[in-house]
Amino acid sequence: MLAELSPKLSVEIQRAAKLLTNPAPVCVLTGAGISAESGIPTFRDKQTGLWQRYRAEDLATPTAFVRDPKLVWSWYQWRRQLVHDKKPNAAHCALAKWQQMSKANHQSVTLITQNVDDLHEQAGSMVTHLHGHLWRNRCHDCGTPFENEVEALNSSKDAIYFDDELITCQHCGGYIRPDIVWFGESLPMQAWQTAEDAAASCKVFISIGTSSLVYPAAGLAQLAKQNGATIIEINPNPTPNTVVDITLAANAGIVMQLLIEQIDARS
Ligand code: NAD
Ligand code: ZN
Repeated sequence: MLAELSPKLSVEIQRAAKLLTNPAPVCVLTGAGISAESGIPTFRDKQTGLWQRYRAEDLATPTAFVRDPKLVWSWYQWRRQLVHDKKPNAAHCALAKWQQMSKANHQSVTLITQNVDDLHEQAGSMVTHLHGHLWRNRCHDCGTPFENEVEALNSSKDAIYFDDELITCQHCGGYIRPDIVWFGESLPMQAWQTAEDAAASCKVFISIGTSSLVYPAAGLAQLAKQNGATIIEINPNPTPNTVVDITLAANAGIVMQLLIEQIDARS
């Protein structure tokens, strides 16, 4: 399959595989691009249907929710509808396989994601979520986790219709919202600590399918670089990430599959 790629990409994949065969710690950061081939739109894709005239960045904020909770809740229910039947793709599966292989080789591969979907878990990976979970809810005012029958149905994803009626908190009357970190909100402390520790102590940092525009996650590659790591980026499009040493400019599905095949063959 390597032969089907451009000579440059093929050489770069082999260079990356050689580096990763060394059992030194690795930190992998994934973004919306890794789920694109599963059919989940990224935030840079234009929205479709009813939501065409809105920008995702303008809806995923606490200010938008306070201004118009129904609009933001409806948008998330629509996204849940869109995501509920999506399956992991070749990139999620290759990463999960690599985590399994690395356990046997006593290599640490820490996977951090900015994604709120659960495709890494579905593929069998251990993953730390920096931006929360699409399938969980909590009160916007007091933070109490929320689960009722509708929610239980949604989280089992058997529901094919996601109601857009607002729900209120039993404790304080506040509105229930998705348990997601919106633009302008702080990251969960423990998840961020895990990410910082993994980035600061890794020998290779791999950024997959992220625009590198959303901070603080985008700063993890810089932290890794400052601590001597080699940085690999997998993204078909250029990004503003200036610390990259190896660019694998193609879709994550094909690149991850080939990369893990090469690592497997070398170890
Ligand atoms: P982003 O939307 O800003 O950027 C996506 C990146 O993926 C782009 O640089 C694009 O070139 C790249 N890409 C597209 N297709 C790809 C492919 N097949 N293989 C590899 N790369 C590909 O996403 P982001 O950087 O993760 O940041 C935006 C925020 O959006 C995050 O906080 C995240 O929580 C949220 N988000 C999550 C999901 C999800 O959970 N699946 C989906 C949309 C947005
Ligand atoms: Zn409450």
